[in-house]
This record gives sequence, structure tokens and C-alpha cells, in this order.
Amino acid sequence: MRTSHDGGWAAALRHREQVAPKFWERQGKAGVMQSVLLVVFDGLRPDRVQQDVTPNLVRFAAMGTRVPGARSVFPSETRVCTASVATGHHPRRHGLVANRMLHPSDPQVVVETGSAAQLRAMEQTIGQAAILKPGLSDLLGAAGRDYAVFSSGTTGQTFILAPRAQALGQTVVSAHGAAACSPAGARLLERLDPPPADSAARAVWIADAWRTSMLDSPPAVSVLWLCEPDSTAHQLGLDSPGQRHALREVDAAFGRILDDWVAGDQRDSLQIIVASDHGHVTGDGMVGVNTLLSRRPELAGCTSTGGNSGGIGVPGGEREQVVAVAEFLMRQDWIGHVFTAEAAEPPPGALPCSAVMVDHPRTAHVLYTLRNSANLAPNGLGGTSLLDTASHLSVGAGTHGGLNAGEMATVLMLAGSAIRAGVVTGWPAGLVDIAPTILELLGVPGGVSMDGRVLRETLVAGTEPVDSYGPETWEAAGDGYAQRVARMRMGRHVWLDHGLREAI
Ligand SMILES: [Zn+2]
Repeated sequence: MRTSHDGGWAAALRHREQVAPKFWERQGKAGVMQSVLLVVFDGLRPDRVQQDVTPNLVRFAAMGTRVPGARSVFPSETRVCTASVATGHHPRRHGLVANRMLHPSDPQVVVETGSAAQLRAMEQTIGQAAILKPGLSDLLGAAGRDYAVFSSGTTGQTFILAPRAQALGQTVVSAHGAAACSPAGARLLERLDPPPADSAARAVWIADAWRTSMLDSPPAVSVLWLCEPDSTAHQLGLDSPGQRHALREVDAAFGRILDDWVAGDQRDSLQIIVASDHGHVTGDGMVGVNTLLSRRPELAGCTSTGGNSGGIGVPGGEREQVVAVAEFLMRQDWIGHVFTAEAAEPPPGALPCSAVMVDHPRTAHVLYTLRNSANLAPNGLGGTSLLDTASHLSVGAGTHGGLNAGEMATVLMLAGSAIRAGVVTGWPAGLVDIAPTILELLGVPGGVSMDGRVLRETLVAGTEPVDSYGPETWEAAGDGYAQRVARMRMGRHVWLDHGLREAI
């Protein structure tokens, strides 16, 4: 294994010494309280922001600052990403380490984190929070500022955005009904039309619900999480006619928010951030992961989560077996990356989980991704991956969870009176930077210790970063197997760029 660091290509740094008043000291018109709306389009690839399908996102991008270098976290799965958005940390610190996680106190059991009930039950059993770092919900609550979540994502995804909403009196509205709402959210839900069943219609419904019930007097922070275009990418295929239709519908719902914002009283006081949590690649083949693994003597007694980015728990974390499992995986044609827990020195070819910032006691002892490529799929988009048969997806379906560039590149753009207009930044950034930037905009403490950084270069009152940045590469090679992970570092801040199994 070798790591290389190159901070040299940041010669284009501009050191601006301008001192500007902090945004929160410039209360908007007539001293109006400042607020932020974060809109997440689940699974939206940046290259799908196109005039013909998403004219309102294109319009929004031109109003403010676009951050084309934004990246997801690993694994690039929705609940893992949600926790990174909420806390500003990589999974190694927030502890929500996989969509399907081994139970911390019973590694034979897999916790399905899409279920709020399973996350709550896990918290009860282990006597520990599911999310181990304070998130926007906690920090705003501590600062006496209000916070609301409107989500058409799963109940688990919504829970992660505001795990203590009830105690903090926060408004959580879920398209999954009253049981997934906070008491304040359930009261609001009663005044709305019932949520539709179709995923795209639900995303539109939740966006309209936020607009009609919150925009006139928004809380300090609102998170509006739209389950599209992710759901239709999985169901119908990336860039399929059905997915394009869903994306057009949610873009139009976002457009209605934009129209009302631009014409209304909140134009100067509400800042809007638009993001996606991960991208998608196209499934180009099937592999029955758990069936293949169940036949192997190396995996005796192990627990496998399955999936195209999965984990294997080894009884007792015993190193000899961890190595045997990793070596077996690296001999398989259907494997992409292989990572092993920190306690076990990786065998040749494997990388430690710290390479992808998911080293945590809750992380399975061996992680893998299915084989993927940067090749063009039949839909013309870069990035393909094998699919696990247990995922109930079929060839041509969109998928994510791995380190493919198509999965890691995310949408990130900001606009509002506090945001620079008409700017495209070249600085490295990612999901972990959203929370610290929101807190900075509001003058709420808690962002400094996060893994992410404040994206000051996007702020009217901000300056360009003074640190240089550059790529880091983690490589490992064994017998007939090699892999590489590319990261970006700026000072103490690190982002994953992409990873590949290399031809050998
Ligand atoms: Zn997602």
C-alpha cells in the first residue's frame, strides 16, 4: 500500500484579504431573521441538470454559485449521505456506516436503516444514539433556533435528519404519514391533502407542502428532501423516459418555490442551497452475492449485508478470517473494491477502511463494492456497475453505493442575497460542507469541529480559502488484483473523489 500527497497544484490560489461584515450582522431588510432552505434531490447526477428536463435548476444555478467539484461520501448510500449532510462529518465520525448496517450489539443481525422503527429499536438496545454526532437539528435546537424537515424519503432517512425532533419541538413532515412525523409535523399534516402513493407525486407533494406552509415564515433551517430522481432511477433506469418525467415534475415543483421566493418577502432573508446526496450508475449485469458467499468456507459464521456496496461481519473480527475473506473477494471477477477493518492489517491488494473514511467500530470487518467501470452505459451516461440480485433491480436500473465517479459527483449550488451571484467555484467540496456552511450563514456555533468546511468562497461576505489543496491517492496491489482511491485534501479537510479496481 502506498499513499502519495501532492499539494502542489494549488498555485492558482488567490489570497483575498478583504474583511467583510459577517452575514448575520447584516440582518436583511428591516432586521428580518435570516433563514436557509436546503433542497436535496436524491440521486441527481450533476450532468442531468439540463435545460430540457430541469429548467428551474438551470435557472437557479445562474442566480448564485455552483460548486461542480462537490462529492458524496462512502458508501454513497442515502442514509449514510443523509447523516453526513446533517452532521457535517464523514461516516467514520457519525457512525451511520451503511444503509444496511450490522447491529452494533449483535453482528449476526442486519439493521435496515431505511426504517425509523429499526433505528429507534437499535438505539434502545445499544443505549447509544444512531447518529453519534450532533446534527443541524441538535445544534439549532441548542441555539434556540427553529428547524424543520419535509421529506419524501424513507422513514429512516427522515429520522436521521432530526432524531430528537419531538424533544426539541421541531416540525418533521414525512410523506409516509403521521407515524413518521413529529407531533408538530403531524398537526401540520392534518391540514394538507393526503400524500399520494407514487414516488414522483410524493416528491412533488412534499415540495408543495413546504412552499405553502413554510415559505411565508420559514424556520431558521428547513431541509426539503425529495426522493426523486432516485426512486425512478432505480425502478425505471437512469435517464429513462419515466425518470425524465419524474425529474421534470420535481423540477417544476422546485420552480414554484423559486417563483414565490423571488416574488415574495423572503427574497433577501432566505438563502437556498440545492444539493444531491450521490449520483447513479447503470447496472450492466447481475451477481447473486449472498448465494456465492454462502458456499464459501472462508465465510463460515460470517454475516453479509449484501448489496452492490456491502459488508461482511467476521465472528470476533478474527484477523485470520478477515484476511481469508478479503483474499477470497479479491480473487473474484465480480468484485470492485475491498477494504478491511483497521484492526486487521490489510492483506496485499486490500485497503484499510480509513482510506475511504468509514473506519468505525460499527463498520463491518470487510467491505466491498461490486465491479464497476467508467464506460458509457447504453443510455450514454458514464458509469456502469454489477447489481446484486438481492437488490431486486434489473439490468439497466440505476444504482449507487460505490466509488464510481458517476456515484460520487453530486449537485451543489447556492443562491440568495448572501451568496455570490454568477460564480462557478473550483474549490474542493462535498456533502460534509453543507452543515458548516448553513451554520455560518446563521451565526450558529458548532460547525468549526466538523469534518466539513465553511464554503466561504461562495459567500458575499466570505473570502477564498487560504489553504492549498491537492490530490491524494491510495493504491494497493496483490496477486492479480489492484485498486485505487483518489481523494482531495485541503488542510485537515478530505473529500473522496472516486475509486476504481484497476486492470492488471
Ligand atoms: Zn440517495
